[in-house]
Amino acid sequence: MPQPHPAPAPPPEPAPQPHPAPGPTADGPAAPASAPAPAPAGAERPGAAPVRLRPDPVRDRWAAWMREAVAEAAHAPATGDVPVGALLLGPDGEVLGRGHNAREADGDPTAHAEVLAIREAAARLGEWRLTGCTLVVTLEPCTMCAGAIVLSRVDRVVYGAYDEKAGAAGSLWDVIRDRRLNHRPEVIPGVLAEECAAQLTAWFDDRRTELRGSSHPSEEPFWD
Ligand SMILES: [Zn+2]
Repeated sequence: MPQPHPAPAPPPEPAPQPHPAPGPTADGPAAPASAPAPAPAGAERPGAAPVRLRPDPVRDRWAAWMREAVAEAAHAPATGDVPVGALLLGPDGEVLGRGHNAREADGDPTAHAEVLAIREAAARLGEWRLTGCTLVVTLEPCTMCAGAIVLSRVDRVVYGAYDEKAGAAGSLWDVIRDRRLNHRPEVIPGVLAEECAAQLTAWFDDRRTELRGSSHPSEEPFWD
């Protein structure tokens, strides 16, 4: 949906961070060399080597960051938390905050990855306004996080998997781009959506297996 307000500043060119040696991609900033890209879920030509169906300059440039967010999310299951991960990037691509869902770990209903990343970045900057920053998160933000995102004044939200049951960045609601709000961050949805969704699905599959035979009824996956 086009935004009526002036175009935001150009995205930060996410410089390679102190992570596994990145390699250049078609358009993206970096791709950790140690992690070959998995086949897209919708890859055609069964049996063929994984191929990108077509370049997507808008999303591809965030792919390396999204993989970092996926790696952050991978810390969550150790405490029984749903794997959602977020990074808060400064205007120059510096990682100012990280967070993974810690609702179970902290016993805190608000301990979503986005909120934790926003808080860490604000604490680090000593400033609640995160103007010029970008939030990268593996799952479409919920209403609470969408509210926090708007209030933090970040310029941009990049997310992976869509959450059709509870997403507030275009799926069920679009709180972030609500035209009644003064501040409307840019939203780039669906970056590595399949990978991000697969991480969640795998977690829920494992959990269902654990619950099998228990008194719990089998649950439909809920993301957040
Ligand atoms: Zn949330």
